[in-house]
Amino acid sequence: MLLRHTTDKVKERNALTVNPAKTCQPVGAMYAALGVHGCLPHSHGSQGCCSYHRSALTRHYKEPVMASTSSFTEGASVFGGQANLLTAIDNIFQIYEPEIIAVHSTCLSETIGDDLGQIVAKAGDDGRIPAGKHVIQAPTPSYVGSHVTGYANMLEAFVKYFPEKTDEKKRQVNLLSGWVEPSDMRELRRIAGQMKVKSVLLPDTSDVLDTPMTGSYSMYPKGGTTIAEMVSMGDSMSTIAMGEWATQKAAIALDNKCKVPFESIDIPVGLRATDRFIQALSKAGKVSVPEEITAERGRLVDMITDMHQYFYGKRVAVFGDPDNILPLIEFLVDLDMKPVYIVSGTPGKAFTKKAEAILSERVPEAKFKNGPQADMFLMHQWIKEEGVDLIIGNTYGKYIARDEQTPFVRMGFPILDRQGHNYFPTVGYMGAIRIVEKILDAMMDKIDATCPEEKVELQM
Ligand code: SF4
Repeated sequence: MLLRHTTDKVKERNALTVNPAKTCQPVGAMYAALGVHGCLPHSHGSQGCCSYHRSALTRHYKEPVMASTSSFTEGASVFGGQANLLTAIDNIFQIYEPEIIAVHSTCLSETIGDDLGQIVAKAGDDGRIPAGKHVIQAPTPSYVGSHVTGYANMLEAFVKYFPEKTDEKKRQVNLLSGWVEPSDMRELRRIAGQMKVKSVLLPDTSDVLDTPMTGSYSMYPKGGTTIAEMVSMGDSMSTIAMGEWATQKAAIALDNKCKVPFESIDIPVGLRATDRFIQALSKAGKVSVPEEITAERGRLVDMITDMHQYFYGKRVAVFGDPDNILPLIEFLVDLDMKPVYIVSGTPGKAFTKKAEAILSERVPEAKFKNGPQADMFLMHQWIKEEGVDLIIGNTYGKYIARDEQTPFVRMGFPILDRQGHNYFPTVGYMGAIRIVEKILDAMMDKIDATCPEEKVELQM
């Protein structure tokens, strides 16, 4: 197998990343832009970059992902890509008719020093942007950060451009969502609706990357946050920003621009993170928690209690994005499991502090690391040192899981070899029930497949 030669001898590395636990910035910028209605993501770089970003998203969501490119060749790489982007803006508005073009940079265009702000301003001055249409831009050099920072930069670009403050305060709450599935975004709206909190969710990829088969193709599906909704965000009562890495920059920018106060919380993955989301919604919307939500919570707690014997003391390795895995490891601790190895390729100083706060008392032996050298090779080496009962992460974990004969739950981005992740939420109490189900299925399947015949149990 591919990873059979991984050794258990961990050596300190400063310059080498092996099997990174992240992907490149523009992938995140593209995903955030797809969550805005009528928006065409545009990659300012070579065709190869754009093809990779599109295919990464298409393979995960199993939907055709549209995006345009400045199509750099040798000439643009040497003399700059301004002419390419200006021509692209002309062509895109004429042929594909989006409401918004969301331009992000790439390694190449950043390295040669293209100034996206200046080029887009020139396009406006030259009259290349038709009345009522918009071009926004975000820097996403991929030799720093990860797909999460690309997502954060594009989200910030949207809130710097669209929201406007008028004299009329609206009785609504902004929900800035970190990178979650379309199903999760739909679930966040469902929960807000059940709480009777009027909300604007940005971005919103539901009904964009999980569209039903209708028999006809639509380049801009009906979903996505509309321009009118984004403009109205400047008059909202407050903002709930879910996921520090992906949304905090945008929340701060919106507060600075329109004086909309924000509360930064985790993505509501698991019991306690969902409790915090419900409390934040209740406070922001000045509403009490309805009976239906309390009942959903009760069902989750009942399931955890019933199944506790299967979770207790089980060692887990987790990899993925900080906004998603930090509340997840908190949930695993709540299940009395032991998340012992945690890696994330996304940099950010807050990771260590937050992981420590979750793990130091309950799982003092846990090893965790984030940044460029926090890769899947390191996680595999840790697993070689002492094994785990479960691995949770994206599709790339399957090689380690197979080599180590360890149950594996797919969560995060990308998931290339299974289906369902974009239809069934993992946020909220109902999402937590699904996480528990997936964990139990994976662990019980291994027991059923490997235990001695006389130990096979029909009943849990
Ligand atoms: S890492 Fe850089 S060069 Fe590679 S696909 Fe991403 S933007 Fe393009």
